Amino acid sequence: MRRCPAAPSALLLAAATLALLSFAPAAAALKLQVDGQAVVDQLMHLAQWSDDPSPAVTRLLFTDNDMKARAYVKQLMREAGLQIREDTMGNVYGRLPGSDPTAAAVATGSHTDAIPGAGAYDGTVGVIGGIAALRALREAGFTPAKPLEVVMFTSEEPTRFGLSCSGSRTMAGLLDPAYLDTLRDVNGSTYLQAATAAGYGAASSAQMVAGARRTPADLAAFLELHIEQGPELEKEGLQIGVVTAIAAPAALRVKFSGDGGHAGAQLMPLRNDASLAAAELAIFVEQAALGTGVIDTVATVGSWQVQPNAVNSVPRETALEIDVRDIDGPRRDGVLAAIKAKAAAIAERRKVRLQIETINQDPPAACGTEVVAAVEGAVRELGLSSKRMVSRAYHDALFMAQIAPTGMVFIPCRNGWSHRPDEFASPSDIARGIEVLALALAQLAGGSEGGSGSSGSGGARAEL
Ligand SMILES: [Zn+2]
Repeated sequence: MRRCPAAPSALLLAAATLALLSFAPAAAALKLQVDGQAVVDQLMHLAQWSDDPSPAVTRLLFTDNDMKARAYVKQLMREAGLQIREDTMGNVYGRLPGSDPTAAAVATGSHTDAIPGAGAYDGTVGVIGGIAALRALREAGFTPAKPLEVVMFTSEEPTRFGLSCSGSRTMAGLLDPAYLDTLRDVNGSTYLQAATAAGYGAASSAQMVAGARRTPADLAAFLELHIEQGPELEKEGLQIGVVTAIAAPAALRVKFSGDGGHAGAQLMPLRNDASLAAAELAIFVEQAALGTGVIDTVATVGSWQVQPNAVNSVPRETALEIDVRDIDGPRRDGVLAAIKAKAAAIAERRKVRLQIETINQDPPAACGTEVVAAVEGAVRELGLSSKRMVSRAYHDALFMAQIAPTGMVFIPCRNGWSHRPDEFASPSDIARGIEVLALALAQLAGGSEGGSGSSGSGGARAEL
């Protein structure tokens, strides 16, 4: 059901007039039917396919539960009247054809895989909600000029192969098949082997990666709906976050190796303690992030492994994983370079050996101005409250931005929680997010009401 804003009619009229100034009439006039509770029911249905007991959701790439979840997503796409296509990497597409069959598509979507012990909303809202948005447009009698697509991106989470955003990274041409071949899961399988067993894949990793490539010629714009995964919208009582930039993630693996020794017998001047080198570097990581003077720079030492990890042993080897993010790529890279230089200086002074490996160093994304404008137009049209914000977590949108003008729509989630079983977004917030998504997609795709797509209840009628 459409959520009508509880505002006086004069305000409504003013808001609608304002929206019509910048919003295409066909999109502005759409009467959408979005049932938030029905979408939540679908999310809960999807959540049953989990390797951990409810309410936790654990769904790893190409496992039995992932395959069952994929089948359900395809069923929902079919029921929404979408044409289904799957690529070699395992990305699943549902497509609503446009009146211009040669036009590049306008796409939405997100992921349905879930890290161990996660919840039912991260990513899934953008897939199930994306299907609901296309369904609502179709049922409102809207025929897009450009084709509309909803994508279930394969393996946004890095759990199985240690590689995040496998699907969207490949679409953007940023996955080297030779590198992909070096990755193994806990069973020693490669991505190609796992994909082939799941019914995807190709004759080689190179062919598999090539088979999932998208280009600007076939993708006109991308817009992802997602829970905020932060507390700002809820705290400020706002309904929609309009994302303007996605922070650039990078991660380093730094290993210091010393000679170890007995904690009692080895005297202090003789030691080259690997953990003390790591401790110095960890403190520097914080200083380096704070040192930019910009709130958008963040750096974390989130993983710390000590060998032999015994109370009576001088640490022989300490491996750190360091995550650095910023919305400004060169500034983020400056922090990475400073951390590497500091690690080398510490290693020399403390006489420990040093190994540094770059796990990933991805580019940031500025959202496309036309996509941001479409989202803000939809927000105005629906009379919702919103603010512009930065996505500090990364998403498939980060990689889609390498191909096409991209944006994101955030909705509030309880306490900003995600990646935990009590993750929650309300049915009404989800419905509003889907309505914003649908109107913005309609705006980006262009098109008209009263086309051949109408099959559902309500049909199209003018707003005013
Ligand atoms: Zn996500």
